[in-house]
Amino acid sequence: MSTFQAPKGTYDLTPPRSATFLAVREAIAAPLRDSGYGYIETPGFENVELFARGVGESTDIVTKEMYTLTTKGGDQLALRPEGTASVLRAALESNLHKAGNLPVKLWYSGSYYRYERPQAGRYRHFSQVGAEAIGTEDPVLDAELIILADQAYRSLGLRQFRILLNSLGDKECRPVYREALQTFLRDLDLDEETRRRIEINPLRVLDDKRADVQKQLTDAPKLRDYLCDACKAYHEEVRALLTAAGVVFEDDEKLVRGLDYYTRTTFEFVHDGLGAQSAVGGGGRYDGLSEMIGGPELPSVGWALGVDRTVLALEAEGIELDLPYATSVYAVPLGEEARRVLFGVVTGLRRAGIAADFAFGGRGLKGAMKSANRSGARYALVAGERDLAEGVVQLKDMESGEQSAVPLTEVAAELAKRLG
Ligand code: AMP
Repeated sequence: MSTFQAPKGTYDLTPPRSATFLAVREAIAAPLRDSGYGYIETPGFENVELFARGVGESTDIVTKEMYTLTTKGGDQLALRPEGTASVLRAALESNLHKAGNLPVKLWYSGSYYRYERPQAGRYRHFSQVGAEAIGTEDPVLDAELIILADQAYRSLGLRQFRILLNSLGDKECRPVYREALQTFLRDLDLDEETRRRIEINPLRVLDDKRADVQKQLTDAPKLRDYLCDACKAYHEEVRALLTAAGVVFEDDEKLVRGLDYYTRTTFEFVHDGLGAQSAVGGGGRYDGLSEMIGGPELPSVGWALGVDRTVLALEAEGIELDLPYATSVYAVPLGEEARRVLFGVVTGLRRAGIAADFAFGGRGLKGAMKSANRSGARYALVAGERDLAEGVVQLKDMESGEQSAVPLTEVAAELAKRLG
């Protein structure tokens, strides 16, 4: 160990576990790519103000969890705590919404940072794959995104997850509900901080995890009873589309989520094997966000799935992904001359698209064969002085143990044939 350790609340991804992370990212991205979503990448930091306005001044993310810094030039920046505000900012800046092709469908993958209290499944640096569909109000789009996330999780073999669904109303009906809720909450027996929350973000109080708070909330006014006809119809359509697609969901009227920008459809994917941090992904519609960050009216919907928690979910279900070994051929040279010749063979194989590795450091046969085994390679190439004198290498099938001499000039073709 060195003098240094990974900062609190972070961890390193190292082989072999890191391969699972790559595979999870790929599994989440694949259905998006196949559904017209284009890849977008934005900086790891943004102006603080983007998140303050975009995510919401009253959210925990902005008030407590942001990593902020002032640059030498005096700019106030923050490491990105989530992806939606940045992606929308970038789409507007690049005028993607003006290309006459709405919705603008984008997917992304990257690192996010929140100064949270670390615990199992909750880190200060984590990884998400996300999708945003910008500029269109259409229940089919909300349904599409939920269906694609469901498809991604199922393709990984996950089964013990549930989809929670809710509607938060829009700018017509939500304010009416907000006031009714505030009136109700003000009469409860709550601590100072929660009382403050009633005034700035009353819906979040519904999200309070404490049992004594939840008990007082039993008779709280229900958003469902306040939804306007347009929101009701929209929500029913989303529900019907999901049902038609065979996607099972649960109506959860307590689901408000931690970000201010959501309107109408909100959803969360929870996994029952994860304990307290059970949300593996979530998202919703954010029809007002573009205007909140100074853009035009662009009703949009999106989600972000946590890669770290998805990996934990796989482990909780005991799922081992069927990951092909990276190396197909492993070369073991015995002696100086063999080292040069076999390295040439390996280089040729690699250029021909065959994944090959090499026993470096002039190691003995036994140790080198151990490495060949560990690499998972299907074939080993072994050559010593006598082989070279005869112009051959020994090609060993690591599965059957069979070994045969192959002329040096034919090794690449022979391997290409055998590996199909
Ligand atoms: P959110 O942006 O809060 O809706 O989070 C979306 C997803 O990102 C969650 O469902 C988690 O899977 C993941 N996530 C959020 N915060 C963290 C964190 N601190 N550590 C690990 N994963 C997280």
